[in-house]
Amino acid sequence: MDHAVVCGAGLAGLLSARVLADRFARVTVVERDRLTRGPRRGVPQGRHAHALLPRGQQIIDELFPGAVAELVVAGAVPYRPLEQARMVLGGNRMCRAAMDNHGLALTRPFLEDHLRARLLALPNVDLLDGWDAVAPTLTGDAVTALRIARTDTAPGTRAAGGGGAEERVLPADLVVDAMGRAGRSSLWLGEAGFERPHTDRVAVDVGYATCTFTLPDGVFGEDLLILVGSTPERPRGLALFKVEGGRWILSTGGMCGDHPPTDLCGFLDYVASVIPGSMPDVMPALRAAPLPAEIVPARFPDAVRRRFERLRRVPRGLIATGDAVCSVDPLYGQGMSAAALQALALRDTLADGGHDLERRFYRAAGRAAETVWRFALTADLAFPGVPGRLPLTSRMISRYVDRVQRAATKDPSCAIAFARVLGLLDPPETLMRPAILRQTLRHG
Ligand SMILES: Cc1cc2nc3c(=O)[nH]c(=O)nc-3n(C[C@H](O)[C@H](O)[C@H](O)COP(=O)(O)OP(=O)(O)OC[C@H]3O[C@@H](n4cnc5c(N)ncnc54)[C@H](O)[C@@H]3O)c2cc1C
Repeated sequence: MDHAVVCGAGLAGLLSARVLADRFARVTVVERDRLTRGPRRGVPQGRHAHALLPRGQQIIDELFPGAVAELVVAGAVPYRPLEQARMVLGGNRMCRAAMDNHGLALTRPFLEDHLRARLLALPNVDLLDGWDAVAPTLTGDAVTALRIARTDTAPGTRAAGGGGAEERVLPADLVVDAMGRAGRSSLWLGEAGFERPHTDRVAVDVGYATCTFTLPDGVFGEDLLILVGSTPERPRGLALFKVEGGRWILSTGGMCGDHPPTDLCGFLDYVASVIPGSMPDVMPALRAAPLPAEIVPARFPDAVRRRFERLRRVPRGLIATGDAVCSVDPLYGQGMSAAALQALALRDTLADGGHDLERRFYRAAGRAAETVWRFALTADLAFPGVPGRLPLTSRMISRYVDRVQRAATKDPSCAIAFARVLGLLDPPETLMRPAILRQTLRHG
């Protein structure tokens, strides 16, 4: 195969391009933004806390060997998940326990900049930034090219619609839609006369606000990360962790319209309503810190799953991945790892040859996204304000998981098992292992 074109240089685009570089003579990544270091317009969520789950970290290290160590050398903060983190999930504070895996705390632009540099060091990968992926060209039932249009002349700006902009046509054997939640492949399928994927939506109405603090070294003892999940009784949560450059990033948010204010007083009061009484050191430290430069808001109206795997007829040479396929409630911190799992699905599909590649990939990517989607859906639908209802079996599983979480406050084996499932290292069924079941019945 000669030329693959990846639309979008977010996490899904970078990881897919890495996988394609092993199979295609040339890979071109087309990105709408002009790519400079740091936060950018096309990834507004990049200004908010982005936890990289252990499984996502493993995959990144597999695709870019040594990347995690390089990130640590450059300033990312490794932490032991149950020893150097305070995790309150479902209202239960997980007990301290020793785990083999490390978490990695860093900002999203820092991660993306690093992975982009690694990707572009490959001899057969090119980047066209400041170009909009407009539409594929089809010959019969096969994609043969991608039309792109210049979007801007200066970094950080974008011309609306690309009207009248310079255009180019890139011949392509494979076009990958990694354009995030607003991915265009569903639209493109409709325009080319193909069936569009069915879309599931769960209206979670999440609102976020984020700022960065400078806090003294050792401010929370050994702890480097504080995570408080929302509960149906109090649909607010937060993540506070130390990132590169010695700063601490704090994102807080709420579901079902319970959004944080963006003035400092209101923001800190909102944070105070989330911090449990068992952490009396947090609010004094935040209130004593130098004023943060700004408080950035974000909205996430609904979780979206596009069911490409159910399509009966798809054109040859067009696939979608990452948030374009499955975009879940950010409160669970799984989106980047879901994109990484789909990149592995692409690698494995390509390894089995090019025949019926698109449908085989969609089935594999659908399986990879399913765990993440189910997990988020089960948690979201437990909130009375979120429309929709879980089937009975899922409700029973959800109740059992609540009990595992309660057991995890006392029993290290339950805490480790739960943290491994949460980190996507193990499938949820491992929580049903006899040893965990026993401890759950005893403590939960
Ligand atoms: C507030 C918030 C917090 C989050 N926190 C976490 C977290 O803690 N952990 C986690 O794992 N996930 C988190 N996520 C989810 C995570 O950001 C996404 O799942 C992840 O970015 C998906 O990657 P992607 O590459 O599919 O999409 P994106 O990262 O959105 O990238 C899409 C790319 O496509 C480009 N693009 C769009 N249209 C075009 C076009 N027409 N032509 C060319 N390029 C185009 C965009 O500029 C962008 O670069 C969070 C999300 C939000 C909203």
